[in-house]
This record gives sequence, C-alpha cells and structure tokens, in this order.
Amino acid sequence: MSHHVWQFEVLGSGTSQGVPLIGCECPVCTSPDPRDKRLRSSFFIEKGNTRILIDAGPDLRQQLLRSNIVDIDAVLITHEHQDHTAGLDELRAINFVQKHPVPIYCSEQVEKRLREQYSYIFNNPDYPGIPQIHFKRMPETDFQIGDIEICPLQLMHWNLPVFGFRFGPLAYITDANFIPESEWSKLANLDTLVLNALRKEAHHSHFTLQEAIDLSDKIEVQNLYMTHISHQMGKHVEIEKDLPSGKHLAFDQLRIKLS
Ligand SMILES: [Zn+2]
Ligand SMILES: [Zn+2]
Ligand SMILES: [Zn+2]
Repeated sequence: MSHHVWQFEVLGSGTSQGVPLIGCECPVCTSPDPRDKRLRSSFFIEKGNTRILIDAGPDLRQQLLRSNIVDIDAVLITHEHQDHTAGLDELRAINFVQKHPVPIYCSEQVEKRLREQYSYIFNNPDYPGIPQIHFKRMPETDFQIGDIEICPLQLMHWNLPVFGFRFGPLAYITDANFIPESEWSKLANLDTLVLNALRKEAHHSHFTLQEAIDLSDKIEVQNLYMTHISHQMGKHVEIEKDLPSGKHLAFDQLRIKLS
C-alpha cells in the first residue's frame, strides 16, 4: 500500500450534449457563470507517479489542454456511448509525449464497438500518425495500476452494463441508474461519491437529483458531488443553495484531494 495523497479532478461534468447546448437560449445555456459551462463527462485520478483518465469523450483535447495533463498511464472506459468514447483519437498527442501505446481498459463489448467505430486505427495499424491503442480487459475484481488501487463496480445504465470505480476514499459513478446488491458492500465507508444526476425529472437511464441524494444517504457517504448534468437541471448557484449539507453539484475542474 502506497501512502501518497489522492488527487481527483472532474474534467467534464456535462451530459452528452454538454452545456451550453448549441442553439439553446435558456438561462443556463446563456449563463456567464463558468460553473454552468460543462464539457462532456470525464474524470482524472493522480496518486504518486500514476495518472488515470476515465473516459475519452469528444472534449478530451480541450480538457487535457485546460488541465495541463500530458501523461496518462491508463484509460478506463465506463461504456461505449459517444459522449465517453468520441475522443479516442486525441490520445495520439499522449502517444507523441510518452512514445508508447496507452493501455485502454474496457469490457469485451466496448472493445468490439471501438474496433468498429475506429476501423481506420485497427485495420491499418502501420499507418503513420494513427493513435497507438493497446486494449486490456477490465478486471472484475480489484486491481492495481502503478500507485493506484482500483475497485471496479458493475452497474446498469438502463439495459447497458457500465463500470464505475472506487479509488480508496472516493467512488466515481457516471451513466448509471441501478446499483446491484452485489456492489453495495464495495461502497462502504466512502468519503466522497461522484455520481451522475442528470436533472430533476425522471429519466430512463440516469439518476435524478433526488435519486442521487437518496442513494448517497443510503450508503452514508460524507460528500456527494453530482455530475453528468443537463442544462435542464438549472443554474449551478441556484441548485447548489437548496442542497442539503454535504451534497453538491460538481463543476468542470473541481479538484478533490483526499488522503
Ligand atoms: Zn454519458
Ligand atoms: Zn439550454
Ligand atoms: Zn451513457
């Protein structure tokens, strides 16, 4: 067990279209508050000498530039939806820095989908300038990458299996609306839960604001940060002021440091 400090960063806190939406003139999409500008969902973990990225969505280039991230030891893909995978090609830049392929951990189903979607990468592996991708199967039990211990969580996003993760004192769960009984014990004694909460109204594949709050109470986590947020949620400051203590909306570039 290494005793380094855990450093977490929300690289993107927005739902699949991001906030603002193109063409939308609602109060959230026109808000000047930087916390109402949400790139697509992504999360970054750093501990000791190891850095892990969760998901590679369409805003990945902007997210890496804005947070000055140039080294990534592994990418964990939660599921195959575009808002989590459309930026895979941007990992080329990381290849140029690191001079070796980036390991991508995902399920068999996700790998199959990515091989189809990015056929130009996998059908022409010797073509100059394509990203160097090295697939690895996501383990179903605890595993270690460098200084980071990872506990994978198997969840449901309506009818689609997705991975969530526990990293020591924090768990990150995007795009899920069902946590099977088998995973509850893995969420015991958490300090912080980062959990998807799309909006206030019900949705078939995401937790709502109230469902996220209820779940965080049920597992007795001290701090909840909600992510994967739609413009339909409302303005950050207005939602935040009505939340119970310990419950928050995440925002882009929110940093959480835990020991
Ligand atoms: Zn999503
Ligand atoms: Zn809007
Ligand atoms: Zn999704």
